[in-house]
Amino acid sequence: MELILYQNKILREKCGEIKEFDRDLENTASEMLGIMYKNNGVGLSAPQVGIGKRLIAVNIGQAPVVLANPKVMEKSGKEIMEEGCLSFPGLFLKIERPGRIKVKAQSIKGESIEFETKGLLARVLQHEIDHLDGILFIDRIGFFKRWKIRKKLKELAKPQKT
Ligand code: ZN
Repeated sequence: MELILYQNKILREKCGEIKEFDRDLENTASEMLGIMYKNNGVGLSAPQVGIGKRLIAVNIGQAPVVLANPKVMEKSGKEIMEEGCLSFPGLFLKIERPGRIKVKAQSIKGESIEFETKGLLARVLQHEIDHLDGILFIDRIGFFKRWKIRKKLKELAKPQKT
């Protein structure tokens, strides 16, 4: 498992629903957590490690959370916050998103979870859930802003050294 960077088409694919909550899924989740820690990330989605499944990991200081099939059910408010993405090393962008959300998801064991959240957690969850639909944070800024960071994006798009 390795981190997939910007320009890899995998990041643009829509991920499939998780139906089997088995050992494989648990292994995937723990490997994802490992990669997230190693890269000091606050969140990571399965497509970012080359897996087309609706699975995300979030770590904002408390215990890490892994969610399967997460979905934003309700959203309200507007907030601008700076975001980064492990698939875009060194790029930080101020992005406007709803400040408060209601999320429905499943645990790694398949139990349903529903909760409301705001602040940083709401932010990270929206960013990661976007990934599951092939949406990247650069899609959430305006055309002019994207034009301004075009050099940086070009640099990031250079073939990955392995
Ligand atoms: Zn990201």
